[in-house]
Amino acid sequence: MSARQDQFSASGDADDTTARLQSVLETVPDAMVVIDERGLIDSFSRAAERMFGYAATEVVGRNVSMLMPAPYRDEHHRYIERYLRTGERRIIGVGRVVPAQRKDGTTFPVELSVGEVQFRGGRLFIGFIHDITQRRRTERRLDELMTELAHVSRVNEIGQMGSTLAHELNQPLTAILAYLGAAQQLLESNAGRDKVRSMIERAVNQAERAGAVIQKLREFLGKGRTVRHLESINKVVEEASALALIGAKQQGIRTRLELDPAAPMVAIDRVQIQQVLVNLIRNAVEAMSESATRELGIRTDAGDGVVTISVSDTGAGISSDVAAKLFEPFVSTKAQGMGIGLSICRSIVQSHGGDIQVRPGASDGGTTFFFTLPVDGPKP
Ligand code: ADP
Repeated sequence: MSARQDQFSASGDADDTTARLQSVLETVPDAMVVIDERGLIDSFSRAAERMFGYAATEVVGRNVSMLMPAPYRDEHHRYIERYLRTGERRIIGVGRVVPAQRKDGTTFPVELSVGEVQFRGGRLFIGFIHDITQRRRTERRLDELMTELAHVSRVNEIGQMGSTLAHELNQPLTAILAYLGAAQQLLESNAGRDKVRSMIERAVNQAERAGAVIQKLREFLGKGRTVRHLESINKVVEEASALALIGAKQQGIRTRLELDPAAPMVAIDRVQIQQVLVNLIRNAVEAMSESATRELGIRTDAGDGVVTISVSDTGAGISSDVAAKLFEPFVSTKAQGMGIGLSICRSIVQSHGGDIQVRPGASDGGTTFFFTLPVDGPKP
């Protein structure tokens, strides 16, 4: 084979490769930008045109730094130079998140991974660019939600409050015992009714004091500041689910979110209702920790003047003695449980004019919690 033929076949391959590269460029969903060793744009895919707002004809032959905001814009040629000189890979084959700039000057975060190909005796760099604005937005939203929930629910603080609470309750309880013991003795020694009555009255006062401590706690946990706005219940449910289900996939839980498109706007304190949802979903996830089937269903259903939100699981279910007092405070079957979650849920739902209920799951085992919210807001 002559040298000339060799050259021919080489350039034939190159054209073929160009054509193939072009066809790939047309179809990949991520934007692709190919540059040469000088940083000049060689090809610009359709998706890149959409992402950056430039037509390929406007950018081909120009320096790729035009797609970046300062200071990257001015630094980029140095990055290439350094790589060509040292071979040190800072981005090639690694990928990282960098800012990009559209034709209209706006910037957005992208995940950039760069591949390198030998081509026509030189080198080309292929950049795959994935717009992560949406992901960032979702992450930020989840962060915000986390902060809000932690702030308002203060459920985390309950652990620290535990010992104070025990102390505050212990005092009236000890006093009640003492007064009732004294009353008993007085009765046995046939003392006058007035003395017995006085002891019982003191015991009642102490019981009221204990009740006030609990009431204070419920207000502290359940009420907080309430701010009601008209909200799309489906969106509220979607966000709370995303938050509560962080890590649930790893536990092998399959989630079915069925949001009724007819679900209306409701006047609610979004953070509080999300607190209810997060509580119900976390409980459902915990209840399925030992189950072979782990299916979580989260639904909204538009009804007549109300919207019903339900959270169902295929967990262990609830025994009838627990079910009877489930929404009362301090009812828990968990080693670490405070048993406060569901009582707060009920306070919140009722303060919104709704109702919360529990039923055994439809199929084998499991539990479904339902709560309603009135569409026109709570009755005055
Ligand atoms: P905690 O989770 O701290 O125990 P909760 O008030 O949230 O407090 O729940 C009270 C109890 O109700 C739990 O300890 C558990 O026994 C029961 N429970 C709640 N949700 C479920 C569920 N989805 N499946 C089975 N049992 C549940």
